[in-house]
Amino acid sequence: IVQWTPFFQTYKKQRYPWVQLAGHQGNFKAGPDQGTILKKLCTKEEKCFKILMRDVLRPYVPEFRGVVGGDDGDCEYLQLQDLLSDFISPCVMDCKIGVRTYLEEELAKAKEKPKLRKDMYEKMCQIDKCAPTDEEHRLKGVTKPRYMVWRETISSTAMLGFRIEGIRRSDGTSSKDFKTTRTREQIMKAFRDFTDGFPHAIPKYIQRLKAVKATLDSSTFFATHEMIGSSLLFVHDRFNANVWLIDFAKTVSLPENTTTDHNSKWIVGNHEDGYLIGLNNLISIFVTMLEQ
Ligand code: ATP
Ligand code: MG
Ligand code: MG
Repeated sequence: IVQWTPFFQTYKKQRYPWVQLAGHQGNFKAGPDQGTILKKLCTKEEKCFKILMRDVLRPYVPEFRGVVGGDDGDCEYLQLQDLLSDFISPCVMDCKIGVRTYLEEELAKAKEKPKLRKDMYEKMCQIDKCAPTDEEHRLKGVTKPRYMVWRETISSTAMLGFRIEGIRRSDGTSSKDFKTTRTREQIMKAFRDFTDGFPHAIPKYIQRLKAVKATLDSSTFFATHEMIGSSLLFVHDRFNANVWLIDFAKTVSLPENTTTDHNSKWIVGNHEDGYLIGLNNLISIFVTMLEQ
């Protein structure tokens, strides 16, 4: 269950409950200007937004209006365009893109002192008793790097290059219960449920995703960054449907002399994020839905 409505947002004199599908609840609040929100400052993310505002991807990300101090004065926020503000009772879906959701450096750090973790072994067993090896069963523990790699295989992340983080439907109900939604069929069922009653949204999503893909092809930002944990935010209502790239808190510039094509298999150290694997699968799933 999504814990929600951290605040009410006002736009065109309407007040509506704002929807947050991921992240900590305390990370967001209403912005000082209408149609904006504040997200807790992360300097990595600020750096990305500064570059994005001058990149061909600009129309596909929320407008960045700069850094502002919170009214309490103790912390700073990114002021961003509220992507929900042009919609009436929007349906919202957050899909986290990529074949992994941790940075290479996070995996490397986890490998430094690979202690056996009983808690991670137990979490693993809860989801799939057959997941640990005989050896791990005997030791009743798994290492953190082993757990991190395994965790991406229980959702669609490892196989399809994206996973659903959360969905808010038109009836106001929402769920974050997609941690083990893994197969193309399971994903399609969730997408059907999400677009149920809004058939116009599917072709609009396909068109926009294809435009995103074409723009990524010519984007300097995309060519020079590793995009980890970033999402595509899908929003539709009775009249419109649109998609934006959000969340660049774990998007980092590639090390010098390293290039990726965002479409190749990830091997530890090659920095491939699988962003285009996820995007291509998203397009193909929506196209199949349209044909059926
Ligand atoms: P996490 O890293 O856990 O994904 P986070 O703290 O980095 O979370 P985001 O992923 O950027 O936060 O955003 C969390 C949620 O807030 C999104 O799923 C979406 O529902 C909402 N959201 C974020 N940015 C915007 C925006 N510009 N307009 C409207 N909604 C947004
Ligand atoms: Mg996110
Ligand atoms: Mg994030």
